[in-house]
Amino acid sequence: MDCKNCGKKDLSGDELAIYRKLVNRGAKEFLCIDCLAEYFKCDRSEIEDRIRYYRESGHCTLFV
Ligand SMILES: [Zn+2]
Repeated sequence: MDCKNCGKKDLSGDELAIYRKLVNRGAKEFLCIDCLAEYFKCDRSEIEDRIRYYRESGHCTLFV
């Protein structure tokens, strides 16, 4: 799976999952973390914090 914005190859499972979580549960196209940060006008580290949060919360089946 590639980033639909910048074309980055082989997005990680985390990148796919956080996109589904934050943007569109049924997404067929995805953004990498950098483009997602741009999309939300926030810092890349905030996206990474979100990933960590959802991963550690253990409730989100997108992050198993
Ligand atoms: Zn990208």
